[in-house]
Amino acid sequence: MSVLTQTRPLDHVADFPAIPAGWAYLDTAATAQKPQEVIDAITRAYDTDYATVHRGVYQRSADMTLAYEAARRKVAKFLNAGSENEIVFVRGATEGINLVAHCWAGTQLKAGDRILLSQLEHHSNIVPWQMVAERIGAQIDVLPLTADHRIDLDAMAAMITPQHKLVALGHVSNVLGSVLDGRRAADIAHSVGAKILLDGCQSVPRMTVDVAALDCDFYVFSGHKLYGPTGIGVLWAKPALLEAMPPYQGGGAMIDKVSFAGTTYAPPPGRFEAGTPHIVGVLGLAAGIDYVTRIGLERIHAHETALVKLTRDALSQFNSLTLFGPEDSAGIVSFSIAGVHPHDIGTILDEAKVAVRAGHHCAQPLMETLGVDATARASFGVYNSAADVEALVRGIERVTRIFG
Ligand code: PMP
Repeated sequence: MSVLTQTRPLDHVADFPAIPAGWAYLDTAATAQKPQEVIDAITRAYDTDYATVHRGVYQRSADMTLAYEAARRKVAKFLNAGSENEIVFVRGATEGINLVAHCWAGTQLKAGDRILLSQLEHHSNIVPWQMVAERIGAQIDVLPLTADHRIDLDAMAAMITPQHKLVALGHVSNVLGSVLDGRRAADIAHSVGAKILLDGCQSVPRMTVDVAALDCDFYVFSGHKLYGPTGIGVLWAKPALLEAMPPYQGGGAMIDKVSFAGTTYAPPPGRFEAGTPHIVGVLGLAAGIDYVTRIGLERIHAHETALVKLTRDALSQFNSLTLFGPEDSAGIVSFSIAGVHPHDIGTILDEAKVAVRAGHHCAQPLMETLGVDATARASFGVYNSAADVEALVRGIERVTRIFG
């Protein structure tokens, strides 16, 4: 257990009321638990501050609008975006990707164009592209993985052609934890004039993300993995791309002027936020950003990296266990045990008060590449400690004893 003592472990479990003593929550890649200050921000928004945004002339609504737009500025700063007008609030990464597929790819691509994905993508970074490709007559190509389970960027450089108009890749894999060199991927995409979308669901909670340094074109993430509430997420895009995109949905708030003779639309980001927004979700997301920023994403990254090392070192002692993903995976460890279904691993671990995810993790093509139907996955957050890893390892010992 020396790695963690060397790296000044975080100890934030007390911030999380839904984590009882003795419960090892190792499913942060699915969704993060909520610190009290996020819960308080949500409660305050409904309890004392609640009103609609953008349309009210009364003080409470004006105050809520200020808070809502301050949250947009906070997200912009968090991603190092050029302006808050580049931040579109969506329901989550899934909606962000669908928005880009519909409004950008759906209007910019033509029959014969190509889209480049990778074998490790989450279904939400596959299916929206398949839907638009089918509608348009575009083709999808799939990047292979390296032997240590990263997206193979050498293969990308060799495979990409001027027919490729869009590349969409996971910044951090939700199954393997492998971290993409996003800047190199962006440079390769741009070398043929393609745009690149990065799926930041698993990166924003565990590393500093700088969209300017990445030079990507679109970036999406979900608030609930960043210690914020469900139902809120972010699409960031370069301003010229947002300007050129038609609206996603029609309704209130996204218009400039409506008449039966014709309707004109608001500039971005309002153009993409039809209807009353998830006001409280946005305030909760801002509280989540404050929470991780105060701890420091570098410290969170170092902490999770140390937990991953501890876990991989301990699990590699079991002969029947296969570890997936690279050694330096960010906060996520997937594994399987010969002759044991991952659901049985998950159930036995649950009896030992260890919560892991078991299944295909919404990445069925990756399961096929790995040659398995499913894996068990432990993923970490700011509340985890070496004791949780210890509980996991004891639980795995029990699994191997039961299945002999
Ligand atoms: N991409 C990745 C890498 C994810 O881990 C997830 C959530 N598991 C998603 C996309 C989809 O996020 P959401 O369901 O919050 O829209």
